[in-house]
Amino acid sequence: MSFSFDIKHAESGSRARVGTITTPHGQIQTPAFIPVGTKATVKSVLPEAMADLGAQALLANAYHLYLQPGADILDEAGGLGEFMNWPGPTFTDSGGFQVLSLGVGFKKVLAMDAKTFRRDDVIADNKERLAHVDDEGVTFKSHLDGSMHRFTPEISMQVQHQIGADIIFAFDECTTLHNTRPYQVLAMDRTFAWAMRCLDEHKALTDERTTKPYQALFGVIQGAQYEDLRKKAAGDLGSMQSSGQSFDGFGIGGALDKGALGTIVSWVNQILPENKPKHLLGIGAPEDLFVGVENGIDTFDCVLASRIARTSAVYTMEGRFNLSNSGFKRDFTAIDDECDCYTCTHYTRAYMHHVFRGKEIISATLATIHNERFIVRLVDQMRQALLDGNFKDMKADFLGRYKHRSGQASD
Ligand SMILES: [Zn+2]
Repeated sequence: MSFSFDIKHAESGSRARVGTITTPHGQIQTPAFIPVGTKATVKSVLPEAMADLGAQALLANAYHLYLQPGADILDEAGGLGEFMNWPGPTFTDSGGFQVLSLGVGFKKVLAMDAKTFRRDDVIADNKERLAHVDDEGVTFKSHLDGSMHRFTPEISMQVQHQIGADIIFAFDECTTLHNTRPYQVLAMDRTFAWAMRCLDEHKALTDERTTKPYQALFGVIQGAQYEDLRKKAAGDLGSMQSSGQSFDGFGIGGALDKGALGTIVSWVNQILPENKPKHLLGIGAPEDLFVGVENGIDTFDCVLASRIARTSAVYTMEGRFNLSNSGFKRDFTAIDDECDCYTCTHYTRAYMHHVFRGKEIISATLATIHNERFIVRLVDQMRQALLDGNFKDMKADFLGRYKHRSGQASD
């Protein structure tokens, strides 16, 4: 087994720590931001450029790769990293979140705002519902061709073993803040039962596929905004053992109200085993990354940095803005003069404005390189600040400037 997590430094007065995750495809120095390549590609950017900008690992999505090209193709190719020409560590998420998205209408962004109304029939009444959850698993309709499919914990493990990422996630029922508390309880009970089945299937597959590199399995903590549910989930999955196997790490997922992010992460991290890595699923706005690190998160993933880049939105030390705005037409400065990325060291805002206005393909490439570098580097700087003992000052300095100049600091 070649998976381990070593904590090198633990901050006094907070849960923040610095460590190293070791996988069969290399190490990840934590805390770290893991860029997302949903369909085995970070859209518009070469893997070499991702490595150059400091990405230590990439995360792909099991649901999308299962539908296309098919998990068996990735297995034949030698696994996800080999298939996509990424030599470093890889993650896949289980598909639970995407399948849930089908349930509430595909591509509809999950409302992560507790103030919005909360009714389970948001899903049930939706005539375009593409997924149905039962105690055994989820039946869903492909968003590609309308064909019917079924994910169970066992199938999710089989698919993720075929895809072959170094770190995989247990199949969970991801809820939204729309769901009622009784439904959250039901979903959590299912996630508990499914976690046990994932451990069993994972153990069987690991024993069967002896020539393949070891894959680490992370359990996923649900429980929405409820303290008792989150703590129960952390206690149950943190100590869960089946077939002589326990989880190698944990993902914190599901409905996370932005305002309560730190509180929720702190609830679960005071219960989960300290010596195992914690991944915060789908969170990547700069201010949220600080909250995560302070509360003991080791790795993050988020598709936002690349998704907003393709719409000309960039993160900078002056906050977030859109390069397609006419004010940049004659701006011959870098996107961010403090950024060391390929884009900022070779191109101007005026050029970026031009390629976005002209809908040139390179606009996505250059803006994605910048945004991914900005977020990867920010978390790298947090890691260094923890080692140097000045994390609090670094945070105050960054957020003071970022929020002061940003009209849109949050997402
Ligand atoms: Zn840059």
